[in-house]
Amino acid sequence: MESLEKLVIVGSGPAGLTAAIYGSRANLNPVMYMGSVPLGQLMLTSDVENYPGFPDPVVGPELMDRTRGQAERLGARMIQEDIIKVNFRDYPFELETSGGVTVRALTVIVATGATPRRLNLDSEMRLMGKGVSNCAVCDGFFFKGKKVAVVGGGDTAMEEATYLSNIASSVQVIHRGSELRACAALKEEAFRDPKIEFTWDSVVTDVLGNGKVDGLAIRDVKTGRESKLQVDGVFVAIGYEPNTKIFDGQLELEPNGYLRVRRETETSVPGVFAAGDVRDYRYRQAVTAAADGCKAALDADRFIREHAKQLGTGSQRRESQQAL
Ligand code: NAP
Repeated sequence: MESLEKLVIVGSGPAGLTAAIYGSRANLNPVMYMGSVPLGQLMLTSDVENYPGFPDPVVGPELMDRTRGQAERLGARMIQEDIIKVNFRDYPFELETSGGVTVRALTVIVATGATPRRLNLDSEMRLMGKGVSNCAVCDGFFFKGKKVAVVGGGDTAMEEATYLSNIASSVQVIHRGSELRACAALKEEAFRDPKIEFTWDSVVTDVLGNGKVDGLAIRDVKTGRESKLQVDGVFVAIGYEPNTKIFDGQLELEPNGYLRVRRETETSVPGVFAAGDVRDYRYRQAVTAAADGCKAALDADRFIREHAKQLGTGSQRRESQQAL
């Protein structure tokens, strides 16, 4: 019979790793399934200047390696596999790994994050962290007094543009349509901002630059006209896909696909908690994800202490009690 875990963490970004730190210290002996992007989105960023505790900038991969080391030192087990299927209808919960193993758990923390949509250009990936970014709050500072572009027409794009206008010398929003999808308030704020300009009905066909971004190739989708725009940075803000596919039908989702939670971390299934970008489309910061991971682990610990003994029936119940 497969082992019964007190706490399984799915995902290994700041939320998952912080949950592992707190879970280990609460004696939950957590096991983490690291997923297809081990250590999360920060592995794709360069200097991080807004994570507390680092007076000098720390590069994203180093920050995540250090956090991983901290969690491992405290006893968290890390497995470089994905969870591909879950059964949260029975208790203990069952999770199937990409290695073909079924793991059973008394509590689960879902910290699978969200994946930024990409323009799907080779140059975009080559220059990621070298002028291409998905996060103005994280990287905007490096473009002080410089020209930047923001791609997208939704709420995120307008927030990014408005944030960047306080830092950059100019912000060019490039949108594939002729109308913004963003809500009225964010739209109006961007329209009022004298530093923000719009290029409508246009797509980015290439990110230009050798080693760092120095421009964009753009095509007008109505006229077919090609042009170049000189910029030092481009913020791709064309939405995120929350990584919730395997939970569809098992956990309640918001209409936009993010996990629905109440009281910060509780999903629709008692004993399953959510942390980080998989449930948060508002802040999306490493530090807020980490805080979420902390809360989820504390809630999992409380859940085990308060509820697990009452859950399950017959042999399942005896086994759950033995695992505690
Ligand atoms: P979104 O609403 O899906 O908007 C994505 C934008 O990017 C759209 O304008 C879309 O164009 C464009 N786009 C998508 N794929 C593209 C591609 N391949 N090439 C070029 N453009 C592309 O995403 P979001 O702005 O990240 O917002 C996601 C959710 O979070 C929404 O529910 C939003 O309301 C919420 N949110 C809320 C706040 C807030 O309340 N403060 C802040 C941020 C996000 P089209 O318009 O032509 O489809």
